[in-house]
Amino acid sequence: MNTNLFQLRHIGPRDHEKDIMLKAIGVDSIDQLIYETIPDDIRLQNELDLPEALSEYEYLQHINELGAKNKIFKSYIGLGYHEAITPSVIQRNILENPGWYTAYTPYQAEIAQGRLEALLNYQTMVCDLTGMELANASLLDEGTAAAEAMALLFDVRERAKKKAGANKFFVSEEILPQTLSVLKTRAIPIGIELVIGNHEKFDFSDDFYGAILQYPGKNGSVVDYSTFVAKANENNIKVAVAADILSLAVLKAPGEFGVDVVVGTTQRFGIPLGYGGPHAGYFATKEAYKRSIPGRIIGVTKDKDGEPALRMALQTREQHIKRERATSNICTAQVLLAVMAGMYAVYHGKEGIQFIANRVHSASQTLAAALNRLGFKQKNTAYFDTILVEVEAEKLRATAEANQVNFNYVDKNHVAISLNETVGLKEINAIVDCFEQAFNIQDITITEFISENILPENIKRNTSFLDHEVFNTYHSETDMMRYIKKLERKDLALNHSMISLGSCTMKLNAASEMLPLSNPQWGNIHPFVPLNQAEGYQIVLKNLEQQLNVVTGFAGTSLQPNSGAQGEFAGLMVIRAYHEANGDTHRNICLIPSSAHGTNPASAVMAGMKVVVTKTDEKGNIDVEDLRAKAELHKDNLAALMVTYPSTHGVFEKAIKEITSIVHDNGGQVYMDGANMNAQVGLTNPATIGADVCHLNLHKTFAIPHGGGGPGVGPICVAPQLVPFLPTNPVITTGGGNPITAISAAPWGSALACLISYGYITMLGSKGLTDSTKIAILNANYMKERLQQHFQTLYTGEMGRAAHEMILDCREFKQKGIEVVDIAKRLMDYGFHAPTVSFPVAGTIMVEPTESESLVELDRFCDALISIRKEIDATSKEDENNVLKNAPHTLAMLTNDDWSFPYSRQEAAYPLEYIMDNKFWPSVRRVDDAYGDRNLICSCNPIEDYMEAEA
Ligand SMILES: *Cc1c(COP(=O)(O)O)cnc(C)c1O
Repeated sequence: MNTNLFQLRHIGPRDHEKDIMLKAIGVDSIDQLIYETIPDDIRLQNELDLPEALSEYEYLQHINELGAKNKIFKSYIGLGYHEAITPSVIQRNILENPGWYTAYTPYQAEIAQGRLEALLNYQTMVCDLTGMELANASLLDEGTAAAEAMALLFDVRERAKKKAGANKFFVSEEILPQTLSVLKTRAIPIGIELVIGNHEKFDFSDDFYGAILQYPGKNGSVVDYSTFVAKANENNIKVAVAADILSLAVLKAPGEFGVDVVVGTTQRFGIPLGYGGPHAGYFATKEAYKRSIPGRIIGVTKDKDGEPALRMALQTREQHIKRERATSNICTAQVLLAVMAGMYAVYHGKEGIQFIANRVHSASQTLAAALNRLGFKQKNTAYFDTILVEVEAEKLRATAEANQVNFNYVDKNHVAISLNETVGLKEINAIVDCFEQAFNIQDITITEFISENILPENIKRNTSFLDHEVFNTYHSETDMMRYIKKLERKDLALNHSMISLGSCTMKLNAASEMLPLSNPQWGNIHPFVPLNQAEGYQIVLKNLEQQLNVVTGFAGTSLQPNSGAQGEFAGLMVIRAYHEANGDTHRNICLIPSSAHGTNPASAVMAGMKVVVTKTDEKGNIDVEDLRAKAELHKDNLAALMVTYPSTHGVFEKAIKEITSIVHDNGGQVYMDGANMNAQVGLTNPATIGADVCHLNLHKTFAIPHGGGGPGVGPICVAPQLVPFLPTNPVITTGGGNPITAISAAPWGSALACLISYGYITMLGSKGLTDSTKIAILNANYMKERLQQHFQTLYTGEMGRAAHEMILDCREFKQKGIEVVDIAKRLMDYGFHAPTVSFPVAGTIMVEPTESESLVELDRFCDALISIRKEIDATSKEDENNVLKNAPHTLAMLTNDDWSFPYSRQEAAYPLEYIMDNKFWPSVRRVDDAYGDRNLICSCNPIEDYMEAEA
């Protein structure tokens, strides 16, 4: 057996196990199972046209060869991206550690206290530095965070006097170019008019509801915005500020001058540049807006014993709930990167961050003084890390590039030079050398830093930050390593047991796919370097686009969106542009089946469309006649249908081709939500079912780890007629010939994370990919078979088969007083993370095993569910004191001298034999959600504070 074949490592079941499973299902072969699962008229006849699979060893050689083609210059381009130093203790113990990167979004709080604490640290850090009251646990990047600020302020504008119809949003000309482009994309469809100008000339008129400023400005200039903000406040114009997080250690916090929202990126807190991402965007605001904040917020609450515990707070604000009333569609965020940035602050602490900020500031002063000695004028009146130098730009550029240095060439006569924490005297002298060589002038050597703070008093920070104990404790590597380990141990991730989250596809994130991310040839490259410095990336990104074209059957791909939901928005904006190009500006109706994921209607509304919900029949399929009636009724204005395939009910609907042609016949385009692509790859594809565009969640189907809730990559793949409209970037041109403006800040979104999916496809090849899909379907149907006497499966295909996931109905247990959450919590005692709870049907769980799980693990999970089923049978509605309601059980409960429960300790913690060998202990008892929302605390104040407040 060729054990170097990656497919053998990625796919869980061994050949003899497959036979056992097929027998249990009652089919002769996998092909028969597929025949019974996927409708005939959409099954692919040919293999995917992809190169032969590489072994892991061959792939690692290949990717290193490509990495060597990237030229790693010193980049002082700035514009929101700075070279940063990832502390090795964070790189090794978090970025490279599956205990952190394979975790899911922390919905199951009792087995997620570790990353919840790390995210609370992150929120506290953001609040402290920005001077705001509340921060979320990350957005996708600075550009989209700014767009979220614009949208939030638009949403709440009616609360302010005289602002009912105001639709103008002022954008300072100091804004970063990519942020401006993202703002445009988001503003137009919802009727916001952007007015770009100099903030000093702004007239504060009543038709403006809000404004955004950049701090420091795009070329480094720092100005005192307090007068502007005061005037805006007087005129009920809400102000957002996009701020550089490191600069806030020395500059006055925007919260101090009374702004409403502060946004930015935390990239320079120890996150590799990665040619544009992934990085965590931050968003901080006032308490007053807590119900409108986009994204996830971590809050403090208590568990069943009254002990402090953390959880995701205020989930009722999420797009899942708001659907067509949503103002944001963010779902997957940048959790792993937020964890790392928060840990950077924990490790450096207040004094370390202050030192780094001061040193960066001194470095830029030192450079400015040196250049001044050579006769070059520095133009910014005040600056933090970026100087603007008057110089003949093209002449400098040639020399700089020959010396492997990049600057930001602002115009013919100016360059901006943005310094960072890696800059020492050597780097400063190298920059000075570029000027000397380019203009043939005397040679000077800088021997020491100028280290006085020359910032004017009115913009200097004089308030404290990062005073909490957590930022002032773990400063030796031993302490830090143990702190990270302590948190990791509280969290259940894929390195403990299967996480069968329906719709989320938690498959193997292979080590060989991940390894290249640690290589500086991939990590340390700025997104705005000239293309010829990023040859390795260009090859990988083009190859990946081509691979995704092949997999989807489409003609073009944009890798720019940073999540599935962002892909939805991108795809709908592309459809919108297509209709506009055809003169159909009125097409704005979007049909969405009632079972759709909440991000679908939220994205449609963001794209300026009106949502018309279509019915689902009792078998869980789209009600074709209802869809036809609605498509015909709206035929003059039909823009699109959004459809998930196989459906969120886990079924390959037979009528899919009829459905897509009804939409086409009535002038609409078909958007396919690709979250369930794991059931399609190699067997059918979106083009074949008649879709025009789809997003793919590379963090589901294509092996990017969930990272505890991000990063994600959500590329869109499109049919030929939509290719011209694929999104561009204002600094580095990407996309189609008639592109829409930017969807996210970086030209290729989270380019670094794209390496993972490239590795996945390259090491599996056509056969491995197709076999993966087949085994995903085999695994799901095997589980369905094993569980069927114990749990009712809702919805199946025509021949009784599930696709790659299935919905188990738990509603009948209500008679026994057992809710679906009780099952979810009890699974923790059995060492498992719950499947998806109450989506797409309330009171059910949706199980998706994926192809990576072996028969043994599937059986363990089935045994656990069957055992729980028996426990349910043994309970009665009258008796709340049972093993399900009290779940999960902690070690503290088990070892308490006082055991007063009506079942044994063994039944509580070791209900099945296999658990003896591999016990996972939830670190808190069941958390109190309602209490946490009533008493919202979202930063790490000393716990005693709020416990006292309650008393
Ligand atoms: C995961 C998912 C989404 C959203 O994707 P994100 O990457 O989290 O933004 C949309 N639709 C469905 C069906 C999903 O499962």
